[in-house]
Amino acid sequence: ADKKLYSPNTIKDIMARHGFKFSKKLGQNFLIDGNIISSICENSEISELDGVIEIGPGIGVLTYELCKRAKKVVAIELDKSLVPVIEENMEEFDNFKLIQGDVLNVDLEKLIEDEFSGMNVKVVANLPYYITTPIIMKLLEERLKIDKIVVMVQKEVADRLSSGPGSKDYGAITVAVRYYSDAHTIVKVPNTVFMPRPNVDSAVIALDIYKEPRINVADEKLMFKIVKAAFGQRRKTVLNAVGSLDIGISKEELREVLEGEGIDPVRRGETFSIEEFARLSDRIGEKLS
Ligand code: SAM
Repeated sequence: ADKKLYSPNTIKDIMARHGFKFSKKLGQNFLIDGNIISSICENSEISELDGVIEIGPGIGVLTYELCKRAKKVVAIELDKSLVPVIEENMEEFDNFKLIQGDVLNVDLEKLIEDEFSGMNVKVVANLPYYITTPIIMKLLEERLKIDKIVVMVQKEVADRLSSGPGSKDYGAITVAVRYYSDAHTIVKVPNTVFMPRPNVDSAVIALDIYKEPRINVADEKLMFKIVKAAFGQRRKTVLNAVGSLDIGISKEELREVLEGEGIDPVRRGETFSIEEFARLSDRIGEKLS
């Protein structure tokens, strides 16, 4: 029979038995709503041939459903005190593996190679909100062999995905997500589906990763350095923000590049479209070579 791990009383029992306490610092807000868990799984379109990476399994409410659907699930959990809990809750599955550690320090390319040979790989998670953006950036920028990401994020992050140049919601993550994927918000979620309740509303987003990025750019790493500089210092002109980067181009050369492209050097980077970032990156790259 199915364990209904997500029932609040079950979670409380498990926690009491293991002497586990929620860590606010680690962004521990566990799902207590079976419909949301099903919706995340269904929108992940997991087949029995797929591999799944789960980030932050917690006590395993989502993990349990993933293990029923996928060929293999590898979950990465930072909190050592959850290791015995999740191992116990997943004991009926032989397609489950737990890695204890910080997802930002895990070599995911190697993990995919070692654990998911011959499988399509998806990332599914209810993300810890204090590091949502760095996690998504890592998943995208490392050009991992994954075809889909379905994650719960704070609504504010979902809003960033659908924003455009000049808007306050437009950020480096907007550019990265649009460059690498076709992104959608699946469903907006009230804070009542979590225990304990976070202070923000949430949303489930799905990113279908492009086989080839949407735009041609010679040097992606350079482009994202430029993008991050532009958004890291939003109030600065593109000339000052990008000009202070240590990439080997002087401010004078940068001014020439911008003027040559018909881009006003006093514009703020946050007004740039993805195409403009790509064009600027390519011209700067040519100067550097
Ligand atoms: N998946 C569970 C659920 O839906 O109930 C828990 C989700 S909870 C929002 C986020 C989980 O990520 C927590 O279990 C937390 O301990 C874990 N976590 C926090 N920081 C992490 C990190 N840097 N690497 C891996 N896991 C992390």
